[in-house]
Amino acid sequence: MAQAKSEKTRIACEIDFDKGGKQQGYLRLPHSVHRSAYGWIGIPIVCIKNGDGPGVLVQAGNHGDEYEGQVVIAKLIRELKPKDIRGRLILFPMANYPAARAGTRVSPIDQGNLNRLFPGDPHGTPTQMIAHYIVSELLPRVQYVFDLHSGGSSLELIPTVDIRYSTDAKRMKGVIALARAFGAPITYIGHGTGTTMLSAQTEHLGILSFATELGGIGTVNPANVAIAEKGIRRVLKHTGVLRSNYPVEQAPPTRLTEILGDAYYIYAPDEGVFEPAVELGAEVKKGQKAGAIHFPESPDREPVDVRFPIAGIVICRRIGARVQIGDCVYHLASDVKSA
Ligand code: CA
Repeated sequence: MAQAKSEKTRIACEIDFDKGGKQQGYLRLPHSVHRSAYGWIGIPIVCIKNGDGPGVLVQAGNHGDEYEGQVVIAKLIRELKPKDIRGRLILFPMANYPAARAGTRVSPIDQGNLNRLFPGDPHGTPTQMIAHYIVSELLPRVQYVFDLHSGGSSLELIPTVDIRYSTDAKRMKGVIALARAFGAPITYIGHGTGTTMLSAQTEHLGILSFATELGGIGTVNPANVAIAEKGIRRVLKHTGVLRSNYPVEQAPPTRLTEILGDAYYIYAPDEGVFEPAVELGAEVKKGQKAGAIHFPESPDREPVDVRFPIAGIVICRRIGARVQIGDCVYHLASDVKSA
């Protein structure tokens, strides 16, 4: 497990995380370039602090083309007042700001994919510096992290909560309780073991956390935003950082599922135009046709069928018909047997 380099961040913060009240400012990411020799890039950040209580980070814009979380956090920033908070709530709507500004998954400055660069590097590229700042300056101040993702430009998902599997049963119980408070239609437990995602850092530090997948297609779906708005308020209340009498609706049930390996991800085996055969939310059987790849460049060539290697629920589909070998066209989840 890679840990944050001990050197101090080079990013300055305009707000004081220890001060009471609601503060808004910028992280100043040093960026000395032709058009601005002494310049910095401003990454918006808000801290609302009121007395003792838990520390919570709610983040979006980890991938810049995922907008639902950015909208949800901006609404929280406008709505919540210090009197609503017990402890410290850090709201970070555009984590990889250069990517979020450009509306792209990765940063246009360094091609950095923030959620593949943890724990970052204080002397690295802009995206590596942001990753290092989150790990070295934000995570030590919180006990809970909620990282609001969606499918971005190339994917669409059923609104889901995404939990990283841990062998720590107590941790899993705590995170699943948070996911039930969020109340997305689907919750999935992923068994990935990658160490460069934010979820690896929060697990290592004992911070309870989940991510979401709130739709995608590079758009903002109002129904999914509504799910997230209600869900995040319930989750904040569950942590105790939002006052106990804050009005929220009761959580709808979530379907607890898991993703147990590579077979859950269906990839294009050839290059061409993908014609899907099933919709999001479909329950598919092993061997069922997922779609076909057509070859308009060789119009007399027969299409190649793509089949589901296992049974499951279709929770994610590719956007964009043109596919290359290795593009994910669907992914599945299956009900947790023991739950
Ligand atoms: Ca994402």
